[in-house]
Amino acid sequence: MPAFYDTHAHLDYPDYANDLPEVIERARTAGITKIISIGTDLESSRRAVKLAERFAGVFAAVGWHPSNAHEAPEDIRPALRELVKHPKVVAIGETGLDYHRLPGEKAGHAGDDAQYKQKQAEIFRQQLEVATEAGLNCVIHQRDSFDDTLAQLQPFAGKVRGVFHCFGEDAGRMRRVLDLGSLVSFTGIATFKNGQNVRDTIEAAPLDRFMLETDCPYLAPVPYRGKRCEPAYVKEISEVVARSRGCTLEALSAATCRTAGQFFPKLQ
Ligand SMILES: [Zn+2]
Repeated sequence: MPAFYDTHAHLDYPDYANDLPEVIERARTAGITKIISIGTDLESSRRAVKLAERFAGVFAAVGWHPSNAHEAPEDIRPALRELVKHPKVVAIGETGLDYHRLPGEKAGHAGDDAQYKQKQAEIFRQQLEVATEAGLNCVIHQRDSFDDTLAQLQPFAGKVRGVFHCFGEDAGRMRRVLDLGSLVSFTGIATFKNGQNVRDTIEAAPLDRFMLETDCPYLAPVPYRGKRCEPAYVKEISEVVARSRGCTLEALSAATCRTAGQFFPKLQ
């Protein structure tokens, strides 16, 4: 059975509080041999590290999600510098920019947007700095903020690479990411009936420049759409990606696992 990795999961979320060992066992049975649990703030990052200590095939990324930016400390670098020393911390993130629901959309908050964006940019920059120091790469979240996210990553190109996770942009934007030396990764959206735009991007992606992920508990692929997602469902995603590209599962397995091993050097 061809092996795959789930390079973006939120195993520390309460959705798995009652059955995490079974969730991880189902992933193993489905051929998903490695899972990266992604932190979204310091507490979540510490929980991800604990899970990596508890389960052999689980690794952690530590960071602060842009949607939680307003709760972030002034300087998150000291805490992250401690966490990255752990042998199973394989990346910084998730970090990036998210302009999807800005505070100014709510009554009485006009004018807050600039401040909110500035705080997101500040903690994103801090995380890129820690990644540079630690020799790690970054798991990047962007929503409605593609140009700004790319512009902020640009000065770090050559030092830090990003994976633009849950990639849903067109092939032209993907090329701009790849031109910076960064990567993209694809979720269960590839299996959705209305996911043709993502399948078009997948078709255009060089075989060695993308990875697979679930972003679980979100975005369960068909036929589980709408239910809780879990790492085992990378299997369904891999089947659709292989079909869209006209390649074998074996070739997709070899390429995506090699890419992940190079992007996350501590993933062993
Ligand atoms: Zn995520």
